[in-house]
Amino acid sequence: MATFDAVVIGGGLAGLTCAVALVSNDLKVAVVEREKILGGRARSWTDCVTGDPISIGPHILSSEYRNMLKLLRILGTENKIVWERDTFITMVTGRQEVVMKMAPLPAPFHFVPSLLADPTLANRDWLSNSAITLYAMSISENELLALDSMPALKLLERFRVSPAYIRRFWAFISMAVMNVPLELCSAASILRFYRRLNGKNGYRVGFPDGGLGDLFVPAAERFLTANGATILREVEVTEFIAGERVSGVALADGPHLGARFSIAAVPPRALEKMLPPGLSSIESLRNLACFQPSPYISVYLWFDRKLSDLRFWSRLYEAGDWNVDFYDLSNICSGWKRRPSVIASNIIYSSRLGKVSDREVVARTVLELSEFLPEAAKSTVRHAVVNRIPMAIPAPLPGWEHLRPRNIMPFRGLVLAGDWMQTGLPASMESACMAGWRAAECVLAEYGRPQHLAERHQELNWSAALLGGGVRVLRKMGTRHRTRTSFSRSAMACK
Ligand SMILES: Cc1cc2nc3c(=O)[nH]c(=O)nc-3n(C[C@H](O)[C@H](O)[C@H](O)COP(=O)(O)OP(=O)(O)OC[C@H]3O[C@@H](n4cnc5c(N)ncnc54)[C@H](O)[C@@H]3O)c2cc1C
Repeated sequence: MATFDAVVIGGGLAGLTCAVALVSNDLKVAVVEREKILGGRARSWTDCVTGDPISIGPHILSSEYRNMLKLLRILGTENKIVWERDTFITMVTGRQEVVMKMAPLPAPFHFVPSLLADPTLANRDWLSNSAITLYAMSISENELLALDSMPALKLLERFRVSPAYIRRFWAFISMAVMNVPLELCSAASILRFYRRLNGKNGYRVGFPDGGLGDLFVPAAERFLTANGATILREVEVTEFIAGERVSGVALADGPHLGARFSIAAVPPRALEKMLPPGLSSIESLRNLACFQPSPYISVYLWFDRKLSDLRFWSRLYEAGDWNVDFYDLSNICSGWKRRPSVIASNIIYSSRLGKVSDREVVARTVLELSEFLPEAAKSTVRHAVVNRIPMAIPAPLPGWEHLRPRNIMPFRGLVLAGDWMQTGLPASMESACMAGWRAAECVLAEYGRPQHLAERHQELNWSAALLGGGVRVLRKMGTRHRTRTSFSRSAMACK
């Protein structure tokens, strides 16, 4: 039986981040990946018809992805990201564009000028959102977690956010970022994201310049093999070998790999299948079946002409819409500027559509695209790819923040990683990388070599923290009983 210091199960971002950290500290590591291609839910490949790189689905990064950017820095691929200049997001409804820019104002006021200029909102609508904004800046982690069982829509109604603002803003971020409809989203999860969105300014969004996996997979493979790691592809781990501690893994084709530490960098349902009976009753491993997926359908369309000069836009989400976010890769990838449009889009929480054929998906995507870009209806789609992804992320349904494991070593020898860990972030590439660094910290500490690897996130900058602190003091002083603001009434309603 081959033996290692650590076996990393799963070659996605979490697993590769952890493996990179461990080999950098001279540990003997094996990475075992079930699929042919590494990268997991952030993988990409070459399209066999066009020869273009395509990803499992289009992804966005943020300049706040400190843990992912740290990985890319080590791998030397940080320059493969195309950053947006001044636009944060372009939201479209019909042919109308609503551009959100980050004004040079202290947080949480940096989006106010864009909101004021938004023709789809009356002043009373965005003012109706002030109370929840102040509340988000002022709440503690415990108060936030107390909202986990509440659906987000209920919280917004309690804060008397206007229906127009809910439709225009919250329904959109729920679908686009949290990946579930607002009525199904945990109030704690969305409020936590909102706190970060508004609590800091100066960040930018970016896109991979080419295939998403090309950002980290080839460089990680080179880095790992150069540092003595073994990478097994198309090999499935079936079970942990567990006695007093987990001492390795069993592989589908028979042999065992022995290891002092087994790092499970796989989604919760995959982890559940690998647990021998003795481990499945452990507190943080007991509820793995409760994680529900948010499935996606991602679409790639090669058009015969240029349709736009935008890189990225989103539809203002309306119930009944299929697509949420669109990307014109001809305006993103280096050297593609003169090419006809290659448009990628995501149909998020796609289980809401029931059974739909690829043909229907393509036709509906062209239709929705042409509502914003009428030229799309007149053009020819030369080639189309439809990717169906059973789980893009675990869905942040009410209760999900409590399901996420805090204890990353639930049993001796077994360490957990993955986007679904308790990182304080939405399940995302950044959460996966943060969990990967943390898993490595845990293993290295057991080897008596403690290290600080995961980058902590500062949630609020000075201005938002100051404002939040002031609101917190007022709340503590009980001013809510004396004032008649909707904020104080709503905050009380949430107790
Ligand atoms: C279409 C789409 C769009 C997205 N958009 C964004 C976005 O814009 N921004 C963002 O930040 N995030 C986005 N995400 C989410 C992001 O991709 C994931 O959060 C992240 O990639 C998860 O990484 P991970 O390492 O935790 O898990 P995974 O990538 O799932 O890695 C787990 C790996 O384990 C392997 N595995 C599972 N079981 C076994 C086994 N028994 N034996 C061996 N190997 C096994 C799997 O094959 C997989 O490679 C999106 C995801 C999708 C699919």
